[in-house]
Amino acid sequence: MQDAHSDVVIAGGGAVGLSLAVALKAGAPGLSVTLVDIAPSGSPPRDERASAISAAARKMFEALGVWGEVASAAQPILAMDITDSRGQDRVRPVLLSFEPGEGTLGHMVPNGLLHGALQRAAAAKGVTLIGSSEVRDFAAGTGRTTVTLGDGRTLTASLLVAADGGRSRLRGLAGIPVLSWAYRQAAIVTTAEHEKDHRGRAVEHFLPSGPFAILPLSGKRSSLVWTEPEKEAPRLLALPEAEFTRELERRFGYRLGAVRPVGKRQSFPLSLLLARSFIAPRFALCGDAAHVIHPVAGQGLNLGLKDAAALAEAVVDAHRLGLDIGLPSVLARYESWRRFDTVRMAFVTDAFNRLFSNDNPLLRLARGIGLGVVDRLTGLKGLFAAEAGGTVGPAPRLLRGERI
Ligand SMILES: Cc1cc2nc3c(=O)[nH]c(=O)nc-3n(C[C@H](O)[C@H](O)[C@H](O)COP(=O)(O)OP(=O)(O)OC[C@H]3O[C@@H](n4cnc5c(N)ncnc54)[C@H](O)[C@@H]3O)c2cc1C
Repeated sequence: MQDAHSDVVIAGGGAVGLSLAVALKAGAPGLSVTLVDIAPSGSPPRDERASAISAAARKMFEALGVWGEVASAAQPILAMDITDSRGQDRVRPVLLSFEPGEGTLGHMVPNGLLHGALQRAAAAKGVTLIGSSEVRDFAAGTGRTTVTLGDGRTLTASLLVAADGGRSRLRGLAGIPVLSWAYRQAAIVTTAEHEKDHRGRAVEHFLPSGPFAILPLSGKRSSLVWTEPEKEAPRLLALPEAEFTRELERRFGYRLGAVRPVGKRQSFPLSLLLARSFIAPRFALCGDAAHVIHPVAGQGLNLGLKDAAALAEAVVDAHRLGLDIGLPSVLARYESWRRFDTVRMAFVTDAFNRLFSNDNPLLRLARGIGLGVVDRLTGLKGLFAAEAGGTVGPAPRLLRGERI
């Protein structure tokens, strides 16, 4: 029996893999795209997180016709304060602030909602979705790659894309080495309700134990990304409600009145990982499979969406020219587009986390001066805002809101 052939097989149906599938079909409806994921098709992701989506990523979702489904639940981030303090400080000096009108800082979007909208868009555009299955192995041959699924089925493709997350099995199978280290920190993620309206203001408290981010959600609710040393996280997660609330209040501060946790408590070990190459013969890495960064700036998914936009553009352009989409020159265009931006963002988030996650008095003084200076330099602040908005560097068409 002949193997089923697709132009592109994508392993991994997270937000990045799905966005890539939708973008490919939007740009070249004639391309056949198959997406394989371990989870059953149509199932919502297991986590209750929300993600900060940059202005550029929003433009991409608008161009792909996905934004309409999530817009009503998306909370705009209108302003942001960054403070540097100890947990017990009642008053926390604001070292850097972005006020409304200084540039769009993005939107908070519930992950489950985004995932559902992307899955429906992929199905509507004719992507073949294979759920409850994994890509177990693959072999690149002349003109095509043979992909083996967990149940023994085989598919062939002109291009195989690994969007299978930070622990990418396919990256290992491709023999691509990585640069990586663990931060020995965990991010506790939960939702809090508060007495007062947040007015779209995000706050990042840099505490000695790590950054504590308060990100506005619709209503009087905020999503918390609470970084702690790895050893401390299990204790906090297991605390009874009243004690957990006290620990949360101590870090949250008193700006929004009484606060109480309402969502599930989840914890994520934090690490940095950079693939030394994004491509191999008829193979490309995309999203967390290519890079995992510290969530201090809420940029991991945004980076992955930029990968998806760049890879889709390189493939669609090649297809329009009648070229083989798995050619090394097509993949090299994608890699050179994304490598520098990824390393730069990994470096910036790593440096921020290292500089702030400690109680060294000299460093406290230095960072106070550093951020105070940034607050006065409108040009630099503009750059920070542009970074948050995802508009730094040469952007693929979709990220500029154009048709692919
Ligand atoms: C605490 C925390 C907060 C964050 N906040 C933000 C934020 O605010 N903004 C932001 O931009 N980023 C944020 N991030 C980063 C963001 O969550 C990730 O970058 C993003 O989820 C990566 O998406 P992905 O699709 O590449 O990978 P994943 O979401 O990991 O998806 C991988 C998919 O591949 C599937 N899979 C795995 N192996 C196989 C296989 N062999 N075959 C088939 N399928 C397979 C899995 O089932 C899964 O569906 C945060 C991260 C953390 C830890």
